[in-house]
Amino acid sequence: MRSDSPIIAVRDLLGRPLESLRLSVTDRCNLRCLYCMPEEDYTWLPRAELLTFEELTRLVEVFAFVGVRKIRLTGGEPLLRHDLHELVAMIAPNPRVDDIALTTNGVLLAEQAAGLRKAGLHRVTISLDTLRPDRFHAMTRRGDHARVLAGIAAAQRAGFTGTKLDAVIVRGVNDDELAGLIEFGRAHAAEVRFIEYMDVAGATQWSPERVLSRAEMLQRLEQRYGKITPAREDSAAPAERFFLPDGTVFGIIASTTAPFCSRCNRSRLTADGQWYRCLYATSGTDLRGPLRAGASSSALAEQISAIWSARTDRGAEQRKSERFRGAFVSLDELQRDPHLEMHTRGG
Ligand code: SF4
Repeated sequence: MRSDSPIIAVRDLLGRPLESLRLSVTDRCNLRCLYCMPEEDYTWLPRAELLTFEELTRLVEVFAFVGVRKIRLTGGEPLLRHDLHELVAMIAPNPRVDDIALTTNGVLLAEQAAGLRKAGLHRVTISLDTLRPDRFHAMTRRGDHARVLAGIAAAQRAGFTGTKLDAVIVRGVNDDELAGLIEFGRAHAAEVRFIEYMDVAGATQWSPERVLSRAEMLQRLEQRYGKITPAREDSAAPAERFFLPDGTVFGIIASTTAPFCSRCNRSRLTADGQWYRCLYATSGTDLRGPLRAGASSSALAEQISAIWSARTDRGAEQRKSERFRGAFVSLDELQRDPHLEMHTRGG
């Protein structure tokens, strides 16, 4: 497959293109967020099975050949992967990839922001669930709140624009900080996105009572700010965006109460090369095996196209239609197969 070969864009059975790839570069994390890693013990992916930067770059080329043009680097916590800027520098020259973004918890960002920017990273999304250090500790079982704030400031200094701040809202934990987070975002030229607590695999403490819905978030923010206007956008992005009366923009990712599977153009690759067509998918496709066995890029592209063309996944919509909704996957299953974990799939 030559670099100037025409793109063979593929669509799934619901007409959704394969345009965005969430690339997990590690399953490890330096935080233990209650909505993602609430347990004490985890089964980690063997380091020898993690894809090298060369293998990740090769797979990005193959995915770009079938239509992927957006790459999001995720984890676990991606900045735990050594020299991540080198991977960015390897992917950035690919003419088919027009957006390289990073999702990080920000703890290690202050040291790495400038280097990532120089290497060609376009955008960063930083998790910030609370402005209170005590609550940060309660939610993550770690005490690095000041380092996250330093990371946000470093991203601004490094020249990143279009920065997003993602806050997972859990009722009874941080649902009293909606306005505070919006004000913080406004003061740091970043757009805040509120994420509904999701019952994805790994969220073993999830229950419907702990979800603050999109509707309730909007109601509370209207009480605080006045009339909120939806941004009329035809986008496959997960966040629905809104304007406050003064023009400030914020977003809501409502996978639990208002899922958006119908426009989902995303898939996920784990750090050890397992490819998932949906966050809720319970089985994936091993791409590391054929890659290390010497498969050609066109053979890998054909395999990916065939699998995506048969895709019908709508995991969040199916979960929403279920009457009795508890944790999606049991602890036993998670310990048997760490690929089921959200932190292994990069959220
Ligand atoms: S649940 Fe699956 S199909 Fe729905 S938006 Fe998420 S990844 Fe896409």
